[in-house]
Amino acid sequence: MDLHLRHTTPSDDERAAVDALLGAPRGAWDGGARGDSRDTHLGMGGRDARQQRHLLLPALRALQSRVGWISETGLEYVCARLSVPPADAWGVATFYSLLSTSPRTPRTLHVCDDIACRCNGAVELIGELERVVGPAVAHAPGETHVSVDPRGSAWLRSPCLGLCDQAPAAFLQEAGESPREALLGGMTAARAIELLRSNSSTALDPAIPTTISDGVAILLPRIGPIDPTSLDAYIASGGYQALRRALTIGAAAVIQEVTDSKLMGRGGAAFPTGRKWSAVAAQPVRPHYLICNADESEPGTFKDRVLLDGDPFAIVEAMTIAGFATGCEYGFLYIRGEYPLGAVRMQSAIDSARANGYLGNDILGGGCRFDIEIRRGAGAYICGEETAIFNSIEGYRGEPRNKPPFPAEAGLFGLPTLVNNVETLATVPWIVLNGGAAFAAIGTAQSTGTKLFCLSGNVAKPGVYEVPFGRTIRDLLTMAGGVPDGRSLQAVLVGGAAGVFVRGDELDIPLTFEGARAAKATLGSGVLVAFDDRQDMSQVLLRIASFFRDESCGQCVPCRVGTVRQEEALYRIASGKPIGGVAQEIALLDEIGVAMRDASICGLGQTAYAAIESAIHRVGVLK
Ligand code: SF4
Repeated sequence: MDLHLRHTTPSDDERAAVDALLGAPRGAWDGGARGDSRDTHLGMGGRDARQQRHLLLPALRALQSRVGWISETGLEYVCARLSVPPADAWGVATFYSLLSTSPRTPRTLHVCDDIACRCNGAVELIGELERVVGPAVAHAPGETHVSVDPRGSAWLRSPCLGLCDQAPAAFLQEAGESPREALLGGMTAARAIELLRSNSSTALDPAIPTTISDGVAILLPRIGPIDPTSLDAYIASGGYQALRRALTIGAAAVIQEVTDSKLMGRGGAAFPTGRKWSAVAAQPVRPHYLICNADESEPGTFKDRVLLDGDPFAIVEAMTIAGFATGCEYGFLYIRGEYPLGAVRMQSAIDSARANGYLGNDILGGGCRFDIEIRRGAGAYICGEETAIFNSIEGYRGEPRNKPPFPAEAGLFGLPTLVNNVETLATVPWIVLNGGAAFAAIGTAQSTGTKLFCLSGNVAKPGVYEVPFGRTIRDLLTMAGGVPDGRSLQAVLVGGAAGVFVRGDELDIPLTFEGARAAKATLGSGVLVAFDDRQDMSQVLLRIASFFRDESCGQCVPCRVGTVRQEEALYRIASGKPIGGVAQEIALLDEIGVAMRDASICGLGQTAYAAIESAIHRVGVLK
C-alpha cells in the first residue's frame, strides 16, 4: 500500500487517545494549534519528541483501544507528536497482529485455532462461527476484508492465546472510551456468538487456572489461596523477606547464591542465570536495564500467565532483587498483549509496592534504587526473542538483532541489559531465602530445582504442574489424568511449536535438560501437548507451519521464504496433491529445514522445522 500523506486532522477520539498518553502538544510543529509566531517554521523541542520514540507502540495501542483501528489520520498525528517518519511508523503498526490498519469493528473476538485448542473443539467452533456469523476478518494490513458495521463486531482466527488449559480460548477486545479486554476460556460457538452480538455490559469472568504441585513447591503455593491484589496478604505469606535478605547480604552475595543454585533460564534457552547476572553486573557502563520477559507466546505455553495473574508481587519482588544484584535501576515488564488480567494485576502490584517503599529511590531504606514500567506487546511471537524485545520497546519493528553484541554488553537503548523470563525470576526469592545450595539439591545435578510444565491437548486435567526436575513425560501425563475418553495416545509435543514430537512408546524420557538432550528433544518452555488417536496430524503440522510463516519477522531470507515453502509443501501433502509424491515433498521439506536451521538469524527460523521434522521422521506422520 502507498502512503499518501496529507496534513490530515485526527478525530477527537484519536487526539484524545494519544494526548492521554503523551500530554497535550506544545505547538503546531507537534500536532497542536499554532501559537508562537515561529511555530511551523521551527521544530521547537523536536529532539525531546524524538527521544520519546519508545512511546510509539504504546501510542499505537492507545489508538487501537480507543478507536478500534489505526487510521491514516491517527497514525499521522502520532508521527507528528513523536517526530517519527510516517513510513517508519506504518512499518511498526503493521508488524503487530493486535493492531489493525484497516477499518475494524469496535468489538473483536480473536478465536484460537492453534494446536491445543484444535484438540478441544476449536475447528468445530470456528466452522459454526463461519456458518452463523460469516467469515473471519483477515490480518493483512491495509486492506478491508469485511463490510464494516461501526456498531458491530467481527471475529478473527488467532494463534495460541496462552489459555490452552481452558481450551478452546478466545480474546475479546472492545474499543471505546472505556475499552475492555478479556481472555476467555471454555469457549463455545453459542458463547462466541453471544459475545459478538451482545452489548458491552456482558460480564467477562477471568479464567481460573488449574495448578498442581508434586514434591517441593516453590512457585505455585501462593496461587489460589493468597489474594493477588493485596500487598498485606503477600507480606503475610512470607513476601519481601527475600528482598530484605538480599539488601542485607549485598549484591555480590545474591549473585553467588543464584550461581550456586545452578538455575537455568526457564524461557527455553536454558542459559545459566548466575552467569548472565554476573556479566551484566560487571559492565562499567551505566545505567543497566532489566527486562522481565513476559511475552510467552510459544504455542502450548501458559505458565507465565498463571504466575502473572496469580502471584504478581512475587514477580515485582524478584525483579527488584535482580535489579539490586546486577546494578539495574530500571526494569521493564514486557507482557504479551493477550494477557490483560496479568497487565492489570502487575500494574496494581507495582503501584502498591511503590507506594509502600518496595520500589523507588531508597527501597526499604537500604539505599537501593529501582522502579518498574510495564510495556504491553501487541500480538507478535517474535517479540519474545530477547533482542526483538529491545526493538519493540524502543519503538521499532520487533525484529531480532544480530549477536554479538550480546544484551549484557549492549541491549536496550544500547546499554547493558539483563533479560530474564518470568518463571526464572519468580524462582529467585526462594533461592535468596533458602540458599543456592538448597535449590541445587532439588532435581538432578544438571537440572536443579523445580520446573513448571504446561499440560494441554488431550489430557483429562490440563493445567500448570510444578515438579522437581527428573520426572518423566509419563509421570506428568499421569498427573494430568492421562488421555481421556478411553482414547489412545498418538504423540506428545514436547517444548512447544519449536520443540519435538515424541511417540507414545517414548514416555519414559526424563524431563531434564540433559535427559531431553540425550533423547534428541528439548524442554523448551515446558510444554507438553498430548494428541489422541482422533487428531489429524497432517492438519496439526500444517497449523504449526502456518504459525511460523505468520510469525516470521521476514528480515532474513531462509526464514521468510523457507516458512512459506514449508507450509506450501505440507498443504499439498494434506490436500492429497503432492508434487512427485509424498517422499519427494518430504525430501524438499528436509532441504528447506536444513537451510532454515543453518542460515536463519534467530531461533524462530532455526527451529521452524524441528517439530515437523520430528513428526515425520520420529513419529511417522505423513509416511
Ligand atoms: Fe526474523 Fe525469521 Fe530471521 Fe528470526 S529467523 S530474524 S524471525 S526472519
